[in-house]
Amino acid sequence: MQELSTDVVIVGAGPIGLELAVALTRSNTRYLHFDAKQIGYTISWFAPQTRFFSSNERIAIAGVPLMTADQGKATREEYLTYLRRVVIQFDLRVNTYEAITGINRQADGTFVLTTGKNRTVRCNRLVLATGGTDRPRRLNIPGEELPHVHRYFKDPHEYFRRAVLVIGGKNSAMEAALRCYHAWAEVSVSYRRETLPEKSLKYWIYPEIKGLIDSKRIKAHFNSVPVRITPTHVTLRTGDREHDVPADFVLPLIGYEQDTTLFRLAGLELEGSCQAPLFDPHTMEASVPNIYVAGTSVGGTQDKFQVFIENCHVHVERIVAALTGKRASEGPMVYEEPES
Ligand code: NAP
Repeated sequence: MQELSTDVVIVGAGPIGLELAVALTRSNTRYLHFDAKQIGYTISWFAPQTRFFSSNERIAIAGVPLMTADQGKATREEYLTYLRRVVIQFDLRVNTYEAITGINRQADGTFVLTTGKNRTVRCNRLVLATGGTDRPRRLNIPGEELPHVHRYFKDPHEYFRRAVLVIGGKNSAMEAALRCYHAWAEVSVSYRRETLPEKSLKYWIYPEIKGLIDSKRIKAHFNSVPVRITPTHVTLRTGDREHDVPADFVLPLIGYEQDTTLFRLAGLELEGSCQAPLFDPHTMEASVPNIYVAGTSVGGTQDKFQVFIENCHVHVERIVAALTGKRASEGPMVYEEPES
């Protein structure tokens, strides 16, 4: 077994984990960086050409401008390209596809970590920037595992001229319904409430989906919950009535859950229905000394989304200050609202 030793270990190479890596590089802090998958993994499973809701300035990291050819919001592809460029520009050495599988706290407050590649890493401080949307939420109904049930929205091309039932009523579900409709799929929607959640939907999504539903070009089943999925249809229950909706593909886009394995291995205290880690907001230190949390991981499994990449940059500043006593960067690392 190979043994490594460093001052700080960062786990997670999403935007905030990478931004922290740049800041630690700039402050000459010794660190090692691990990710169980590839950098930007969560973003990599967005459907092709999905555009971020956040503007480019807000998701740019480490003071590196994020620009797009049309000045529009970055797509999945543009942002992944940008992240790769940042990694190359700062020569960040991320140990990708190497999961942390064990966290052992020593009597002196340091840690011995084990990795999925049979290595151990001794470190003084550990930063968990592991994200909050690790896996799609489940319906827990029969038929959910059938191959035509896509819990990740894929390329809309797959659904051309096929019957697609989208389950859910917020941004992922409604954006997918619109994209499938524009790819000439026959779209219907099952939503458990009486009407669309106007206030939760983006201002460019709501009017279009409402118009298509009102004009019956997209068939909406409000107040309905799916109870079983078969290869040809989905049974929806509305009140005490059940009815079948034909579906070649089923897209349950009902939100995401956090994988809390590392928090639990580390013995972090988690709180509330979101099971978010407790932490000191000034330093980002969690309930176990010398363990810090960063990025959207701090939100736990979010029911009502409030923690996004764009409001997590400040975590980097706080952690760098706590670890090194220095300011995070001389550059414009944190996007600031222009004065109106
Ligand atoms: P979400 O906001 O958590 O919405 C989940 C939806 O599924 C809600 O409508 C919810 O119903 C419904 N739901 C939850 N559990 C259910 C169950 N067991 N059975 C049936 N329905 C269920 O998740 P999301 O839409 O995936 O959005 C997640 C985050 O990603 C948000 O911050 C969103 O803005 C963001 N997003 C970004 C982009 C982009 O950047 N392009 C695209 C899509 C989403 P209720 O309404 O009753 O709660």
